[in-house]
Amino acid sequence: MVAGSAGKQSTVGDVMQRRSFCKTALAAAVAAALPGCGSESETAVETGRRIPAISKDGAEVSIESAAVQELGESLDGRLFLQANDGYTTAKRVWNGMFDDRKPALVVQCANTADVVNAVNFARERDLLVSVKCGGHSLPGKSTADGGMMIDLSPMRSVDVDTAALTMRADGGCLLAHLDQASLAHNLLTTTGIVSHTGCGGFTLGGGFGRTDRKMGLAVDNLIEATVVTAAGNVVRASEDENPDLLWGLRGGGGNFGIAVEFVYRLHPFNPNYYGGMLTYALDRDFLDFYAELHETLPDEANVEPQFIPSEDGTRIALVEVTWSGDHAAGEKALAPLTRFPGLKSGSLGVHSYLALQTSADDFLGYGRQYYLKSGLLEELTPAALDVIEDFAPRDRLYASWFQHLGGQSARVAADATAYVHRDAAFNFGIMYVGDDPAQNDLARTQVREFYSALEPHMMGFYTNLNEDSEKKTWGNYSANYPRLVELKNKYDPTNLFRLNANIKPTV
Ligand SMILES: Cc1cc2nc3c(=O)[nH]c(=O)nc-3n(C[C@H](O)[C@H](O)[C@H](O)COP(=O)(O)OP(=O)(O)OC[C@H]3O[C@@H](n4cnc5c(N)ncnc54)[C@H](O)[C@@H]3O)c2cc1C
Repeated sequence: MVAGSAGKQSTVGDVMQRRSFCKTALAAAVAAALPGCGSESETAVETGRRIPAISKDGAEVSIESAAVQELGESLDGRLFLQANDGYTTAKRVWNGMFDDRKPALVVQCANTADVVNAVNFARERDLLVSVKCGGHSLPGKSTADGGMMIDLSPMRSVDVDTAALTMRADGGCLLAHLDQASLAHNLLTTTGIVSHTGCGGFTLGGGFGRTDRKMGLAVDNLIEATVVTAAGNVVRASEDENPDLLWGLRGGGGNFGIAVEFVYRLHPFNPNYYGGMLTYALDRDFLDFYAELHETLPDEANVEPQFIPSEDGTRIALVEVTWSGDHAAGEKALAPLTRFPGLKSGSLGVHSYLALQTSADDFLGYGRQYYLKSGLLEELTPAALDVIEDFAPRDRLYASWFQHLGGQSARVAADATAYVHRDAAFNFGIMYVGDDPAQNDLARTQVREFYSALEPHMMGFYTNLNEDSEKKTWGNYSANYPRLVELKNKYDPTNLFRLNANIKPTV
C-alpha cells in the first residue's frame, strides 16, 4: 500500500484516485485499526507525475507514478514517497549523521513476496537500492539520496526449535528478538553487544559478540538462509542446497541478495552469566597485563577493555568481563583480573545476560552523531600498545575499545567461509558519539589520527564496522576475493546490491 500525504488539500483528481484505489484505502483503514500498523490515511500517487530518483550508476532518472502506484498496490507492506505521512520515520537510520539523506521511495516489506516485487521494480528501472534491516550501518549504507530503500523492519518473526537446537529468524529481525527468543529456552547463538542492531547486516558481515570465542561467530552458526537474488528469484542456501551461496553469505555481506530468512545453530546457555565490570588505572602495566592475560584465557572468557574520555583527565580502563560457562570455573579462570594491583573498583558475580545485552542500548541510541574507524589486530605487540597507550586516554572526543576475538572462531579455516580474518585476536574500535553536528569535523579528524597511527599494526578490518576505498575493501577479502567475485557474477551480475562492502562483478 502507498502512504498518504501530510496536510494536502483534496482535489477532484485526488478524490477520483482515492475511489479507484479503494482497495488500498480499505487496507489502510484496516491497518490503522490494528496496533502498530500506523494511522496515516492513504491516498493514491498523483497520476502523470514522474518521481525523481537516482540510478545505480548515479544518473538522475524519473519513475512513472502509475508504476509506483502499482508497486504500492502489490505490497502487503507499505510504500512511502517523500511527501507521504510517515516518510521521515520510515527512512530513518541509526546514525544521525545520515538523517538528511532522502531516498526517493521507501518500500517496507511485510514478506518475501514484497521483497521480490521491490527487487524486480528496482532492477527493471536500474534504481539505486539500499537495504535496511536494523539501519545500523556506521557509514550509512542502508540509505541513499534518490535511491529505493528496501526496508525489512516489518519482517521480524522468530521460531526456536528446541529439539533441533536451531532458530529461524526473518531477515528484518533485531538482535534483541534473537536473544529474547533463544534465552527463553536457555539457548543462545552469538549476537552483538547492542540489541537494536539488525541481524541482517550483523550476520552477513561476520557477527562478533560476547560469546564468539565459545560459540563461534554469527557466520559460523548460520546454517541456512533464504535470499531474494537480483533476478528476483527466491533461493535457499544450505550445506545441501546452493552451498556456494551459503559460503558467500557467511561474510560477504549484502552482495548476493536480500536475506529474508536466517537459520542459526543454538547452544545451551545459562541466562545468568558470571562476569561484571572492573575499573583499572590505565597505564602500561595494565596494557601489558591484558596482553599477557589474553594468551592464557579459555574460550569461555570474553574480556574487553574500553577507554573513555574523562573530564578530569583520569586515565582509566573499564573492563567488561563475560564468562560463557560454569560459574565456579569462571571464578577460578578470571581470578587474575581481580588480583591485579591496578584494580580500582568493581567485582565479578552472577548477572542477567539479557540485561547485559541491552546495557548500551540507550547510550548508543538512534539519531545521535556517530563516527567510527576500527581494525583487526593479530596480537598486541609492544609497538601497537605504544600507540594505544598514547592515544586512548587523551582528552579527546572519541572512546576506544577492544572486542575480544579468537577461541572457537579462530579454529575455522580462512577459506571455510567468506569471512577471512580468522587469525584476528582483537577488533579495536575508535568511535565518536555526540549530539552536536558542529563537532563532527573535529571528531572525525581525531578518530582518523588515532586510526592512522594504529593502522600499520592492523591485519585488516571488519567490513561491518569500517569503510575504506574499493581497493582496500577488495584486498581485505584477501584470498577469498576471487571466489566472491565468481559468486557476485552468478547472483548479482549487474551489481544491483552495491551499497555494501562491495564486490565488483566482472561479467
Ligand atoms: C551500535 C552498534 C553496535 C554494534 N555492535 C556490533 C557487535 O557487537 N558485533 C558486530 O559484529 N557488529 C556490531 N556492529 C556492526 C554491525 O554488525 C553493522 O553495523 C551491521 O551492518 C548492522 O546491521 P543492520 O542490519 O542493523 O544494518 P543496516 O544498516 O540495516 O544494513 C547494513 C547493510 O547490511 C546489508 N543488509 C542488512 N540486512 C540485510 C539482509 N537481510 N539481506 C541482505 N543484506 C542486508 C545491506 O548491505 C546494508 O547496507 C554494531 C553496530 C552498531 C551501530
